Formats: sequence, C-alpha cells, structure tokens
Amino acid sequence: METINFSDLDIAPLASTLGRTLETIYRPATGRVIPSETQVTSILPEEGVGAEALPGLWQEIVERSTRLAEPTMLGHMDTAPHPVAALTDCVVSALNNNLLFRELSPFASQIEEGLIEAFAQRLGLPVSSTGTFCSGGSIANLTALFVACGGFENNQEMIRNYLPGLPYCYTNGSPYNEGDGVRMAMEVGADLWHMNNFAGPSMALKVPEYRTTFSMIALHFSRDMPGGMIVVGPDGNRFADEKRKTSHGKVYESGRWASMSTPCPMHMIVDHALFSSGPLYDKEPRSGWNTMVDRYDWSDDNRAELANGWIKSRGTIAALAPAIGLDARTLVDTVNRWNEHCEKEEDFDFGRTQMLVPIAEPPFYALELSPSMLNTQGGPRRNGNGQIVRPDGTPVPRLYSAGELGSIYSYLYQGTGNIGECLSFGRISGRNAASEKPWAKGG
Ligand SMILES: Cc1cc2nc3c(=O)[nH]c(=O)nc-3n(C[C@H](O)[C@H](O)[C@H](O)COP(=O)(O)OP(=O)(O)OC[C@H]3O[C@@H](n4cnc5c(N)ncnc54)[C@H](O)[C@@H]3O)c2cc1C
Repeated sequence: METINFSDLDIAPLASTLGRTLETIYRPATGRVIPSETQVTSILPEEGVGAEALPGLWQEIVERSTRLAEPTMLGHMDTAPHPVAALTDCVVSALNNNLLFRELSPFASQIEEGLIEAFAQRLGLPVSSTGTFCSGGSIANLTALFVACGGFENNQEMIRNYLPGLPYCYTNGSPYNEGDGVRMAMEVGADLWHMNNFAGPSMALKVPEYRTTFSMIALHFSRDMPGGMIVVGPDGNRFADEKRKTSHGKVYESGRWASMSTPCPMHMIVDHALFSSGPLYDKEPRSGWNTMVDRYDWSDDNRAELANGWIKSRGTIAALAPAIGLDARTLVDTVNRWNEHCEKEEDFDFGRTQMLVPIAEPPFYALELSPSMLNTQGGPRRNGNGQIVRPDGTPVPRLYSAGELGSIYSYLYQGTGNIGECLSFGRISGRNAASEKPWAKGG
C-alpha cells in the first residue's frame, strides 16, 4: 500500500494564499456582480492537477459566492462565521476531532465532558448524567427509542422490593442487567408489570470474587453423584427435597405453584465421598456466565476452591457447624436423621428419592448457597405493538421495548418463553419503531 508522507507537503505557500483568499471574503468589494448561475463544471480542471489547483479554485469560488462583509450581503437567519472561527475551523478540520473515541480527540473530549457536566448541572440532572453532543438533523431527531437492556437481576434493592421472599439473589446470566431499563421507563411515566416474576430461585454458590453464581451438579434433579449431600437453612435443619425438579424455581404445593423456599443463608453439607468424586461445579456452558464469559476453570478435585475458602472443611460435623455459623447440636442431629432415612431408604421429611446416600465419610465440607436465578421478567408494561404504556394504557410516544425487560410473562415461566419473546417482540417493536414518522415531520 502506498503511504503518504505528510511532511513532504509544502503547506506554507498554500496557507498564505488561503489567508489572502479569506481576507477578500471579509473585505467589502462594493459593486461586485455575483454571477446569477455558475457552471460548476467549468471551473473544475478536466484532470486532477494536484494541490496546485487549489489557489485558483478558491479564488473562483469566492468570486461566485456571497462576500460576508459586503453591504449588499443578506444574512437571512444564519449569521456569518466570524473570521477567527473560520480560521479555527481550518485547524479543527485538519485535526478531524470527531469525538467518537477519546484516543482520537483527547483535548476535545475533555471539553465535551466539561460542557455536558455544566449542562447537567444547569438542568438539575444527577451528577452521574452523561451525554454527547450531536448535530441536529437525524441524530437529534430520533424517530423512536427502543429499550431492550434486560432485567434487574443484579439490582439487590429491586430484588428486595419486588421479588417474593428474597433478601438477596444473584444470577448466572449477564452481570450487567442492573434494572436501568426499569428506572428509565419509570422516569417517563411508564406502568410496571410482572415485577414479582423471575426465572428462579435455584440454589447456587456465589463468591465475592465472581459476579455471577456457580451451579452445583449434586443439586441438579437429573444428575447423580456418589456420596452424601444435604442442604440446611440458617437453623441447621433441612427444609426441602434438595433434588426436586422445580419449574424454574416454582414448586407445586397445596394445589398451586409457589416459589421454592430459600431460607438464607443456606449451606450444602457434603461428605468426602462426594467431594472426591469430581468437580462439584457444573462446568457445562449451560451453567452460564462463569463458564462462558468469565471462564472460571474450577479444579477437577475441588482443592483450589477449598484452598481459597469457597469450601469449608472440618473433620467432624460438630466442628464444621461453628465454622459456618450454625449450632453444632442441631447440625449433628440433622445429619444423623438424614443418615437414618438413607438406611431405611426413605426420606420421611421431604420425600427425596435421589442420592439417598448417608453423609458418612470424613472430612466433611460446607458451601454457602445463595438464591440464584436466570433472569427477571418485570419492567415497563408493553402493549401488542411493543409500545411502552403508561398506567392508563396510553403509549409513551415513540418508546418501544423487547426481551425480558417488561416481559409478557406474568407469574409462571413458560418453557423457553424468554428467547421466543425476544424474537417476536424484537420484530414487532423494531418494525413499529422504524415506521414512526421522523420527529420533525410527525410532531
Ligand atoms: C444460563 C441461562 C439459561 C437460559 N436458558 C433459557 C432458555 O433455555 N430458554 C429461554 O427462553 N430463555 C433462557 N434464558 C433466559 C434468556 O436467555 C434471557 O431472558 C434473554 O436472553 C434476555 O434477552 P434480552 O435481550 O432481553 O436481555 P440480555 O440478553 O440480558 O441483554 C441485555 C443487554 O443490555 C445490556 N445493558 C444493561 N443495561 C444497559 C444500559 N444501561 N445501557 C446499555 N446496555 C445495557 C446488558 O449488558 C446486556 O448485554 C436463560 C438465561 C440464562 C442466564
């Protein structure tokens, strides 16, 4: 590829001619007759002649244009550019300071940020406000706005406020869905719906070093592992069939579907037979973000996770209990009772039928489990056209949504429903948003 050596270009004589040309633009030349019609092609050379063509071309253009300082000049609505601005523009266009990336425009970006901050202050917007300057026309006159920025699965305050019975909950999906779409829609008067519906809870490991949860194989209804395992609540007692198949966290109880109980903090108690049988974490990609994006490589023998404190271990159950904040007597009784059930091959408390194996082989291990979910369903209510609506059902003008943000699913999760909804409302809302009349014309 041919490279251009800019330093070979002799700019100084060109700049001096340009300066003289600009002077003529701002110097009155009364009596000059502006040609009524210009044959543009007649002033352009037949063949390219390089930079030498410029001085003559500038002069030709000036002769055929309005001189800004002439008494006969008619300014209409737009003011004439100040000579200093015109000169500065020369430098600006040479630097090509578009503000797309800071690397391209460190100086100008700083100015832009400062101005946005000043404007936000004047308008009383929060300090966290950001923005960008745009020319009018197509960018400023957005035809419609389309929000599809996911749910609130990483917003603990919204989780506490809206999801039934959960003091906290984490996701094994995207860590970036923080409920921004819910907040933004509320700010423009949208109604909210399905805020109490979510694809969960399940029970999974959440550690401070990672943003999303780790699914435990032993808890999956379709997977068996050798060795003993139970889950206990904060009182040291079991509270459910640990292996039961839920419908995305909903269980059929007393003739209706209810959220599975997750008394926090919960602990999975495991014996050495299970611990030494392979990784406790389900490393399959379906497990979500940690395997697919953060790519945490769980050790095959669980030793790395034991060493970094995610798994606690003691020689006896009585010693393990205080290490995880539980009453030793209760936990020992719970484990003994479980072991008796296993001996009789029947879980008299919760009817568990899978992995009926005693917790027998020391040492013993504990992992703290948290409520986990795939995604939330709540958010701004949308109508059949994909428009976000207000409490009275009228659409917020030009505002559309798709996906799990304000999903159509009200309480129970429909299998694979989210992806289906993403596709259908992506199409419906996208088409309708695109068919809105541009702002300037449509009002
Ligand atoms: C492990 C797992 C398995 C699943 N399995 C199934 C299944 O089998 N079938 C099914 O139907 N559903 C399934 N789901 C649910 C389904 O995947 C999601 O509900 C769906 O992908 C949501 O798509 P979305 O486009 O609405 O949101 P997302 O795909 O979550 O996209 C939202 C995007 O917005 C971005 N964002 C957030 N805030 C902002 C902001 N302020 N500005 C700009 N961007 C922002 C986020 O970073 C994210 O990229 C599963 C979910 C998980 C986690």
